[in-house]
Amino acid sequence: MTETTRPEYADVAAAAERIEGYANKTPVMTSRTVNEEFGADVFFKCENLQRMGAFKFRGAMNALRQFTPEQRAAGVVTFSSGNHAQAIALSAKLLGIPARIIMPHDAPAAKVAATKGYGGNVVMYDRYTEDREQIGRELAEKQGLTLIPPYDHPHVIAGQGTATKELIEEVGPLDVLFVCLGGGGLLSGSALAARQLSPDCTIYGVEPEAGNDGQQSFRSGKIVHIDTPKTIADGAQTQHLGHYTFPLIQKYVNDILTVSDDELIASMKFMAERMKIVAEPTGCLGFAAARARKAELSGKKVGIIISGGNVDIARYGEFLAGKSVS
Ligand SMILES: *Cc1c(COP(=O)(O)O)cnc(C)c1O
Repeated sequence: MTETTRPEYADVAAAAERIEGYANKTPVMTSRTVNEEFGADVFFKCENLQRMGAFKFRGAMNALRQFTPEQRAAGVVTFSSGNHAQAIALSAKLLGIPARIIMPHDAPAAKVAATKGYGGNVVMYDRYTEDREQIGRELAEKQGLTLIPPYDHPHVIAGQGTATKELIEEVGPLDVLFVCLGGGGLLSGSALAARQLSPDCTIYGVEPEAGNDGQQSFRSGKIVHIDTPKTIADGAQTQHLGHYTFPLIQKYVNDILTVSDDELIASMKFMAERMKIVAEPTGCLGFAAARARKAELSGKKVGIIISGGNVDIARYGEFLAGKSVS
């Protein structure tokens, strides 16, 4: 595969080998309470327990491992609202590659601190007035850095697909799979893996109600752009799907669902209280959608990706203590 061809399942398989020994094989958890409530067998792939706390380590490591010696020497640049930043910073540090990270000024404090902690050189921008992609391209051009975007890159997509590959290899074919959706790196990679390893599986992407550009794009057949959505799911505040991710989603995904912030908080609380899982708001998208459709899941084998667990601890406390949600 070159950097400009559309990824296939073989690229997910190659990524799995490339990141072995670097990425965690994250645990798959079950909950008797959930199984009883759903009347289904539900398997949670816990990417909140991935290195740096989210699946994004997979795609970042897969991309950086393919750098040439020249690219490694010059360094990597990326833009991210958080987890991809940490993923690039940590992967780069492990591989001895310098990293520049362009982050929004209002990114969660925990994510900024972690990115700096992993050795990333952070450049701040205003997410409501400035174009991060342009800032990234300028840095790449002027300083010879290689830009690795958070989702729209074949190596990133292939790496993200390894989480679902592991899940299906561990528990067997699934009837239904729920995947969190921002720009679609995780969903398109997961769909490549699921279509190959569990061909009859119904694949759902799940995004925040306030930012349903993916659903609009899927249903209209073209990439729809929206303003930065206001939602607690900060990992899914993307404005549009990508030129690589969208065709894969169109081809392999069955539908895109949405959930509200209140549903995310209710799911976050449930996971904390009943399953002892710390999931960030975006990480709850899949489970929240599954809960909303549990009648449809009866008797089925269901996979849910918990995509990450990086939530500012004070904010997490507020979510759990909130009185306005069910
Ligand atoms: C980035 C991210 C997502 C969305 O992934 P995309 O590849 O942009 O669709 C979901 N959950 C978490 C925790 C993330 O960090």
